[in-house]
Amino acid sequence: MTIIGRNKPALGHLLDRRALLLAGGQGALLAALSSAPAFAAPKFLDDPFSLGVASGDPAPDGFVLWTRLAPKPLEAHGGMPAEAVAVGWEVAEDDAFRRIVSAGTAIARPELAHSVHVEVEGLTSYRRYWYRFVVDGIRSDTGTARTAPAAGAQLDRLRIAVAGCQHYERGLFTAWRDISQQPDLDFVYHYGDYIYEGKAAGPSAESKVPVVRRHTSDEIYSLDDYRQRYALYKSDPDLKAAHAAAPFLSSFDDHEVENDWGGDLDSSSTPPEVFLLRRAAAMQAWYEHMPVRRGQFPRGNAIQAYRRLDFGRLMRVNILDKRSYRSIRLCEKPGDGNCVDTRDHPDTMLGETQERWLGEGLAGGSTWNVLGLGGLVMPFDRSAQKVPTNGYDNWTGYPDARERLVRMIADRGLKNVVIAGGDSHMFFIGDLPSRRGDLESPAVASELHATSISSNSSNGLPIGPDPRLATNPHMSMIHDQRGYLLCDVDAKKWTASVRVVDQAFKPGGVVSTLARFVVEPHRAGVSRL
Ligand code: FE
Ligand code: CA
Repeated sequence: MTIIGRNKPALGHLLDRRALLLAGGQGALLAALSSAPAFAAPKFLDDPFSLGVASGDPAPDGFVLWTRLAPKPLEAHGGMPAEAVAVGWEVAEDDAFRRIVSAGTAIARPELAHSVHVEVEGLTSYRRYWYRFVVDGIRSDTGTARTAPAAGAQLDRLRIAVAGCQHYERGLFTAWRDISQQPDLDFVYHYGDYIYEGKAAGPSAESKVPVVRRHTSDEIYSLDDYRQRYALYKSDPDLKAAHAAAPFLSSFDDHEVENDWGGDLDSSSTPPEVFLLRRAAAMQAWYEHMPVRRGQFPRGNAIQAYRRLDFGRLMRVNILDKRSYRSIRLCEKPGDGNCVDTRDHPDTMLGETQERWLGEGLAGGSTWNVLGLGGLVMPFDRSAQKVPTNGYDNWTGYPDARERLVRMIADRGLKNVVIAGGDSHMFFIGDLPSRRGDLESPAVASELHATSISSNSSNGLPIGPDPRLATNPHMSMIHDQRGYLLCDVDAKKWTASVRVVDQAFKPGGVVSTLARFVVEPHRAGVSRL
């Protein structure tokens, strides 16, 4: 099945656009297609869409569609021949595909693990669509996505989920199942740790925390290693269901590459030029497996992941890269590699260019300004912990950067900044204080820090009232349970529901709302409902 696209060709399409322009018009398009090289047409004995479908980064006129052909997901090259394959795609106004409004062909290339990224354009703003792929007469699952509202449109409401940290071995993806069942989601912000890079857990790991299923390889380093790890995670039916249910705004944290990496340094003592080879492999695999746009295509050994998405006048989302540009980390403990004991220059979390870009985008005009950030931004007094930790991998280790962020918000007089993220494997809901060293100073922003889908925390404190709340007056909740944040946002208030899973070790975990918090756009800070 080949459908002539009414949209722009997908990235890397073989058509020569200049030749088309010279020849002019639709007739030339048909002629060019018929003379284009024939693509391989493999016969599939296994489902080529084993990793599901996804959509991402909605705009007023479209979104990204994603899939990857992998009939044998854990085998080399996903079981695909080393040839380019044409994949058809369709977008419809109804889930039965009676009214198809856009369709085309994209090329799944071996260079990109036979992944497909289609940037659909020309759709109606703030409307729900359904999409699917087809190859060799086999149809993929159907996914659904809503386009963003038109620029400047007054919009009543948005419903979004904030989730991440999905260690495959440490728990089932029950929370993803719950997200997939939430009606009418506009998007999921994924704050990273989509995969974990470690080797398969051995018997000794079991003594500390349950291992519910295992990684299938040693620690990952090569591009094929990373591809196979994504394939393992993406084979999970609950994660596939979540992707099919809503567009994702994807970002990465550390475990997409290596624990606690930053800039061109890992957390061991690997020379930077060697680590950059691993980072390049990891970044390419991230691009291949995420529903992101051409702007996030790997260039050199890096990806520009930071970007802005507007949802009418209701919300501006700044997806931030908190890993690629940060200054060298402070040593968490003696013997750490690639770290310093003190700094001799002001630290940075976002790097100068991204920080300036963020400041330019925080100019106002939206009811809500969202900062998509991993790593707890609020200061955190840990004196009540039995096992003291520093938390230098988050903003506590970057105090100058935090101070500049606070001032950036305060100088603009913004009260509507919501910091959304995760990384701690615990919920932290609270206020970012406006004065350094004064936890009780007025809030400058609200922070909604989600827990983890399945990754366990290592703080060693029991579930229940957290003793650390006593010394952190700016925080409204610290809570250690798996889950995510579900947010209902309108022009008057932002309501965040803390969704928790009763247990993630066996199928049938029950997800419920533990608490609700409210933020108002004219007053920084959260209050409990
Ligand atoms: Fe994590
Ligand atoms: Ca992390």
